[in-house]
Amino acid sequence: MEDKCKVIAIANQKGGVGKTTTAVNLGVALGHMGKKVLLVDADPQGSLTRCCNIDNPDVELDVTLSELMAYEMTGEDKDYILINNAVEHFETVDLIPSNISLSGTETALFNCMSRESVLKRTLAPLRSRYDVILIDCMPSLGMMTINSLVAADSVIIPCEPSFLSVKGLDLLLHSIAKVKRQINPGLKVDGVLLTMVDSRTINAREITAALRDAMGININVFNIEIPRSVRATECPNVGESIFVHDPGGKVAEAYALLAKEVNGLERQTQVRPRPHSIR
Ligand code: ADP
Ligand code: MG
Repeated sequence: MEDKCKVIAIANQKGGVGKTTTAVNLGVALGHMGKKVLLVDADPQGSLTRCCNIDNPDVELDVTLSELMAYEMTGEDKDYILINNAVEHFETVDLIPSNISLSGTETALFNCMSRESVLKRTLAPLRSRYDVILIDCMPSLGMMTINSLVAADSVIIPCEPSFLSVKGLDLLLHSIAKVKRQINPGLKVDGVLLTMVDSRTINAREITAALRDAMGININVFNIEIPRSVRATECPNVGESIFVHDPGGKVAEAYALLAKEVNGLERQTQVRPRPHSIR
């Protein structure tokens, strides 16, 4: 069977730039478009898990990404019951949750074989069940993020419009280039996504222009920007996506447009015409 699943890592080693918010809302938006979506929480802080209405992941959950990866590291055959037990449901998406036990996984990775591809192997049996898998990366460039980049077909990079955030992108792009060169040659950057954009400030406009300039033609910067809105900050507290919490709002609109664009990127890679063959 042809694998039509696209795995997207949502990555930036800086915290607080909108990775988790993007994972939830892009995921739910793709779900509304009829896509089968799996979110993967690859951050031991479990923010994505909390955003998906699991209030206390450290005590509520028996099976999380950590257990699935630990099982994979033992090198045994896949345990589908374990995988099924891990999957939770939220609005239009499925979720593999995480909690603090994932920090132990990161340490365990250092001593295991093929340590960069444990997450890829863990997610492999799930690819046939989903159209899109979104991995919410942790804010570091450590082994867990490298695992996310190895498991991914492409990366979306949320970035706040500040000069420091833009500067920090160099480091991430360097890691992405290294993973691409050494382990995952097919890895693409879908684009840099500006989040929490306050278009009323001149500063944000300047930074947006500077970012587009700095990225040049090599790295896409999404035309769609995610506006700053208080309604978005409330979502984790109420355990709802922006599509439930503020369905008519500008953040919901922006994530819906982003989902369309991401879906378009997916199609482009599938129906790209073959080079002329000589007959
Ligand atoms: P990260 O996962 O990169 O650490 P988060 O998605 O958790 O970032 O976002 C950091 C904080 O900013 C959270 O409190 C979140 O609610 C808030 N936030 C995210 N997106 C927006 C937005 N568009 N407008 C306002 N606040 C936002
Ligand atoms: Mg986060």
